[in-house]
Amino acid sequence: SYIRERYEALKGPFISLEFFPPKTLPGKRNLLARMARMTALNPLFITVTWGAGGTTAEKTLELASLAQRELSIPVCMHLTCTNTDKEIIDHALEKARLADIRNILALRGDPPVGEEWDSNNGSGEFKHAVDLVQYIKQNYPDDFSVGVAAYPEGHCEGEADGLLQDPRRDLPYLKEKVDAGADFVITQLFYDVEKFLAFEEMFRCEVSEDVPLFPGIMPINSFLLFNRASKLSHASIPKRILDRFPPEIQADDSKVREIGVDILVEIIDEIYERTNGRIKGVHFYTLNLEKAIAQIVSKSAVLSSILEEDQSDEEDAEGDIVL
Ligand code: FAD
Repeated sequence: SYIRERYEALKGPFISLEFFPPKTLPGKRNLLARMARMTALNPLFITVTWGAGGTTAEKTLELASLAQRELSIPVCMHLTCTNTDKEIIDHALEKARLADIRNILALRGDPPVGEEWDSNNGSGEFKHAVDLVQYIKQNYPDDFSVGVAAYPEGHCEGEADGLLQDPRRDLPYLKEKVDAGADFVITQLFYDVEKFLAFEEMFRCEVSEDVPLFPGIMPINSFLLFNRASKLSHASIPKRILDRFPPEIQADDSKVREIGVDILVEIIDEIYERTNGRIKGVHFYTLNLEKAIAQIVSKSAVLSSILEEDQSDEEDAEGDIVL
């Protein structure tokens, strides 16, 4: 089903989950089992990433289709549009439609790390994500709910030319994507609540009052990964958060994860409270891992109600059993 419709019918808090396609067959089997277990967390939707430059196209389509068929949760497939051909985009959209995938996250994409775009590659008709939003809305008008990306701390474009990240600079282009028909927005990961809250205010005032905005958050599974992911995503880590990982514990993954769970719970609960429930849920960059997320959900005052709802559903279902 369409994410936007499911979101609008929803009363309580929710989570959504991002996965990436594993490289190996055992990896895929393990991931499917893990995804099935994580349905106990009642995600509003799950997303499957599209490897940079379409490098995982077939694996993404396969995982997204399997998940759509096996789990009764809407799947959103990521799709990047630059440096590629219209035929590849159409092939991906046709396959998604046939697999009953109803949601696409329309992205521009990046050149592979350390490379520049090859200007001979692709037909050049997709320069920015908005071109893909328009293309889907024109050519597949009833098939897909379309999401787009946003950057609470600003996109990093122009950094090489000395420009500082600034969410204000991206805002007109985000508005362009929403005006072209984007149905929901998912943000880049962040750890600075103040920056997200300032962005949310800008978004509501200048982009849209009602398009759902899903804050993206990545659990902290190891100190190394936490730093690497923040750097890659150009997300700042506030000093008060870094200070909670003194050098003597940085190599202890289970201690780091325990502190990370507390930090994320605080971030999620604070966002919910300070936006008066305008932000009802959070999108987890899972890195295909489940432990930290299950712990965050059960410890968060806001999200733990998801589990309570789940239990009451089970009790209701018991009443339905006719012997
Ligand atoms: P755009 O919206 O096109 O914006 C890119 C930059 O161009 C911004 O700086 C914007 O301000 C500027 N811009 C936009 N329109 C114009 C215009 N008309 N004129 C001038 N400047 C303009 N990448 C992958 O390869 N695979 C994935 O699966 C993937 N998933 C992602 C999921 C999320 C939630 C996010 C936040 C990012 C994801 N990315 C993924 C990364 C993404 O492809 C990059 O961040 C990319 O650099 C920008 O994509 P975009 O869709 O935000 O681009």
